[in-house]
Amino acid sequence: MSILDDARELAASGPLCDACLGRVFAERSFGLTNAERGRSLRVAAALDADEPFEPVDTADCWVCEGLCDEFDEWAERCAESIEGTEFGTYQVGTRAPPLVEENELLLREGAGLPEDAGELFKSEFNREVGKRVGRLTETEVDFGRPDVQFTLDLEGDTVETRVHSAFVYGRYRKLERDIPQTEWPCRECDGSGYQGKQPCDYCGGSGYLYDESVEQLTAPVVLDVMDGIEALFHGAGREDVDALMLGTGRPFVIEVKEPRRRVVDVEQLEGDINAFAEGKVEVEGLRLATYDMVERVKELDANKTYRAEVEFGDDVTADALKEALAELDGATVEQYTPHRVDHRRASLTRTRDVYDADGELHDARHATVDIHGAGGLYIKELVSGDEGRTNPSLAGILGVDAVVTALDVVAVEGEEEAFEDEEFFKQAE
Ligand SMILES: [Zn+2]
Ligand SMILES: [Zn+2]
Repeated sequence: MSILDDARELAASGPLCDACLGRVFAERSFGLTNAERGRSLRVAAALDADEPFEPVDTADCWVCEGLCDEFDEWAERCAESIEGTEFGTYQVGTRAPPLVEENELLLREGAGLPEDAGELFKSEFNREVGKRVGRLTETEVDFGRPDVQFTLDLEGDTVETRVHSAFVYGRYRKLERDIPQTEWPCRECDGSGYQGKQPCDYCGGSGYLYDESVEQLTAPVVLDVMDGIEALFHGAGREDVDALMLGTGRPFVIEVKEPRRRVVDVEQLEGDINAFAEGKVEVEGLRLATYDMVERVKELDANKTYRAEVEFGDDVTADALKEALAELDGATVEQYTPHRVDHRRASLTRTRDVYDADGELHDARHATVDIHGAGGLYIKELVSGDEGRTNPSLAGILGVDAVVTALDVVAVEGEEEAFEDEEFFKQAE
């Protein structure tokens, strides 16, 4: 059978619109809509048989029941649903009515064609509405992770519009101690601020153990500028609450859910955050990032450089300190899970490398020690020995007690590659 015979057979099934006819031959030729395919076949079949041309009103189509006339309308509804929200990319999905999908099979079956001939009704709907949405909103389709996802529920007669999160990457420095990275709910009242009907004694009724966090000093500004409904803070690990984060800072991503603005001036945002955080926290290198940056920040293997203020239990000489640090430099350290670490975590012995160890003695009892080590190396225990649970240790080598009185992180860098990979940013630098 020729394509014209097939077309005649299909058209004979009842009133069939151009798009539903053409869709059966969707894989033939390029640059045509299914409606153009259908109309051309109908015209060619009429010419071929020298019969009168009989157009079909789409509203009468027994397969789509007129839906193929509604591309413009659905596209307009999509555009309206997102008015006032900034986006650059979108994707359209269609839930086809089961009846239409059934009719599609019947149509092909009736003409003796394979049931998957051409393309699916919903594929055409996605594409045709999608093209129109792009024109109406001057945005682009993205089949990966678009800014906005429209789902057309044809039977329910609704457009579901989902605005995906926007992401800002950067590095933060924490310049004051006793600030946790993220909000820390009070463990006595589970963050409610109450014990029974009384305000919680432990947290003073705030529900938080600390008044401020890096998250609280940064995320609200991004939330406000992007005009979203919620902001989440994702850090590349975290320093101890009482440790400073200095030097090049720690990578983080702030995620804003359902943003109405997503293309923001990151330099201005940086200034706004730094003004808001009043010198307790500073951010730099802000960039608009992709969804995948969250996982990268959380999962990428990172090494850390620390600066520890150390106090000794007995006098130490500059030479002895120098020799001890030389011994730690390049050492592989065995660490049994420290006492201070979450007791719910399974205890185990793990090994971590010290890449670099350096330091300076201030007086016989005090020194500043710089340690560059693999991610997960416990620095306080590397200094103190943790009662023999960490080996080797500075205290162990020196044969005197040693404790860290202040610990700062000065660098957090990817072990194999930098966090800042262009592939994970929205715009070129
Ligand atoms: Zn139709
Ligand atoms: Zn409390």
